[in-house]
Amino acid sequence: MGFVMRCSVGDFFTRHFGREVVDYLVDPFIAGTSGSDPDSVSIRQSFPDLFAIEESYGSLLVGGVKSGLKKKRDSKNGSSKVLSDSTKALSTQKRPRGSFSFVGGMQTLPHALSERLDEESLELKSSVLSLASNQQGNPLRNNWTITYSKEGSQQEEKHFDAVILTTPLHNMREIGVKKDGIPYSLDFIPEVVYQPMSVVITAFKESDVKNALKGFGVLVPRKEQKNGFFTLGTLFSSSMFPDRAPPGQVVFTTFVGGSRSRALASAPFDEVKEVALTDLRRLVGAQGPPVAVKHIYWEQAFPQYSLGYNEFLSSLEKMEGDLPGLFYAGNHRGGLSVGKSIASGCKAAGQVLSMLEGTGGRKLFTMASNNVDTLPKPAECKSTT
Ligand SMILES: Cc1cc2nc3c(=O)[nH]c(=O)nc-3n(C[C@H](O)[C@H](O)[C@H](O)COP(=O)(O)OP(=O)(O)OC[C@H]3O[C@@H](n4cnc5c(N)ncnc54)[C@H](O)[C@@H]3O)c2cc1C
Repeated sequence: MGFVMRCSVGDFFTRHFGREVVDYLVDPFIAGTSGSDPDSVSIRQSFPDLFAIEESYGSLLVGGVKSGLKKKRDSKNGSSKVLSDSTKALSTQKRPRGSFSFVGGMQTLPHALSERLDEESLELKSSVLSLASNQQGNPLRNNWTITYSKEGSQQEEKHFDAVILTTPLHNMREIGVKKDGIPYSLDFIPEVVYQPMSVVITAFKESDVKNALKGFGVLVPRKEQKNGFFTLGTLFSSSMFPDRAPPGQVVFTTFVGGSRSRALASAPFDEVKEVALTDLRRLVGAQGPPVAVKHIYWEQAFPQYSLGYNEFLSSLEKMEGDLPGLFYAGNHRGGLSVGKSIASGCKAAGQVLSMLEGTGGRKLFTMASNNVDTLPKPAECKSTT
């Protein structure tokens, strides 16, 4: 059982399809979508559906067919049921799968969210400094106090019935948490490994690129390093999202770094740019100098769903159990893509509603982010992140 729980993506796919499939299909997919490598990430956390199919049916092919038929049957039977309350609606809606972006870039999402919230409900350019819960008396009445600083100025306080925390783990550790006036230590939460990533966005004249750029892009297997390919992959951003380039130009988003080459991720701009351009020349026949280049480096781009990640997830449950009214959501829980992060937030919102509806409490929410307002404007941003 312990082996199955700690089974890696690499082991799992080697067992079912052989090592070549891992090296040339799974490895580039994992590197391109999470910066990790198949032997370091957990099958249970990275591909929960496949893990569950193997657990239930033993064979992926037989299980895939049987579970597909079961889903069809279930949706037929359940189609006439009316959802009884908002909690059910939030927790059972079909979620978007996989990666996606928006017309105008990813900032479209926070901008749209901020437009839907009134001024009272949204604090921009704010850093949460501490969270304190008072578990005495009625636990649902303003028992959470958030202390935050706005634009680095004086500290302010607000009170809420529940809190959904969506910061990465390292930020969560920086935020002091108190329970009934006593510091609540987060030391029992295991460390999470983060993968660094550089993204190089290049624009070329369409006539300078030989490839027709049909499709979403290219992913590069680790094995191709021996042939001189050092990027993780490139998205054909202007093929996927036509609003990303002016007429007559094409835009690429190239990923460099991850666990495959951590040092290269943080290399100086010129070095990272050269690596990206060298691969683009060979992979898509990009010629001459690019019209524009932009480089963004994320020191902790992706949390890695390592083999022991289940212990991290269990510790989050312990924290939520110890601190009623606090919920943790985001890409550390349930998947790395934007769609999965949103699904994680919806699930936490459902839990808050359920808690408040169950006890007649008020429905109050807080959102805190220190960077919504500093996101690039649509004209500056051409990436698909
Ligand atoms: C280079 C790159 C490319 C990607 N490309 C894609 C893609 O094409 N498609 C896709 O679906 N996914 C993509 N992803 C993954 C996806 O973007 C992320 O996993 C997802 O956005 C994570 O969302 P989140 O809200 O969980 O975390 P984050 O976006 O990390 O948000 C956490 C927020 O918490 C804030 N914060 C931290 N501490 C505090 C504090 N004390 N007070 C207030 N706020 C605080 C941070 O400023 C941050 O805004 C990409 C990721 C990277 C790094």
